[in-house]
Amino acid sequence: MCSVSTLFQLMHTSSKLRREASKLFWGQKTTYFLVEAEWLIDKAYPGQSFWDMAFLANVQNVEVEYEPDISKKICCHNHGTLVIRHDLIDTFWASLKHWCPNLQKVILNQSKGDYCLEDDNEPFPRALQCLLQACPPGIKRSLLYLEQKPQSSTGILQWRTDPWQRCLFQYTDGGGWLRTESQRMWRTILMPPKQFKGPVGHYMGLRYEAHKKIPLQRLGLWPLIVEALDCYHFDGVRDKPFSCPLSGCVAYFNEGGEWSVHAAEVHHREKKKLLEVLPSNRIGAELRERSQALDKKTKQIQEKFRIIREAWVAGDETAQEEIRQSWIEQLHHDAAWETQETGLKSMLWVDFMQNVYMVTE
Ligand SMILES: [Zn+2]
Ligand SMILES: [Zn+2]
Ligand SMILES: [Zn+2]
Repeated sequence: MCSVSTLFQLMHTSSKLRREASKLFWGQKTTYFLVEAEWLIDKAYPGQSFWDMAFLANVQNVEVEYEPDISKKICCHNHGTLVIRHDLIDTFWASLKHWCPNLQKVILNQSKGDYCLEDDNEPFPRALQCLLQACPPGIKRSLLYLEQKPQSSTGILQWRTDPWQRCLFQYTDGGGWLRTESQRMWRTILMPPKQFKGPVGHYMGLRYEAHKKIPLQRLGLWPLIVEALDCYHFDGVRDKPFSCPLSGCVAYFNEGGEWSVHAAEVHHREKKKLLEVLPSNRIGAELRERSQALDKKTKQIQEKFRIIREAWVAGDETAQEEIRQSWIEQLHHDAAWETQETGLKSMLWVDFMQNVYMVTE
């Protein structure tokens, strides 16, 4: 059996191989692709997403990133009465079915703790229950949920993550919920981005880099830095116990792995400071270089934003009209950037106008 990346490459070779490889590639049972719930209940316009829509058409398994705030939109309280927005629930599933006609399995993932549970007897918010119950037939549904631990077991709260635990709810044939302690048995992959073409694509591509790709790359660097420090002190040959390198902290680590847990629990907000305590070995140097490369990339993108902004702000009426026309033309014809409104009313143009007059991106 080939690896996923080999399959992906085979899909780009001969047509016969392609057919077989793509069947295997898309049929991977434990591979999920990530889609945002917010986008789905907003009617899933391609223009409001950085992802390549054509790719979604083949996707069979989807993980939906679900922010607790969405429950407040679906279950809202109007003068004391609970109103369930079935229109939003319908839109959610219609959007998903529209873009993923081959959908087989959906996992909703709420990975932020939410204290607002209306009823203590319910396993998870009503909105999520309504949403999952409305799932079209033939699609397997489940929920990865961050729930509050029973009060008694938590004791003194030392870390922010202490009161929470993750669990998995599966919808049973009888219409109930089967709760299990979740072991992540699948992996979730980001969708490939659109091809950022034309004036709209150029600008949106920069936004994608600045607001999505680079922040994720920075986030990915953090666990690597933590682990590098752990491996540097506990290499299995000559272990070197050490004190927490962050100033003001008195923790001491006698065994490998202790520092990594400590860093995640206590110093997860001090990602920048960790760069200063990188080990002085080759891996440390490489991670520092990687971080500097991301800084450089960020500066380049800011410079490109500045050029776009200058072209508008410093441009005369003719120059501005040219930019406006090129945007309107693309928004009108390019399905990749379709939104509810078109032309000058498109939210992409409205956002662009707001951003060119902002001092910093
Ligand atoms: Zn409610
Ligand atoms: Zn510490
Ligand atoms: Zn036209």
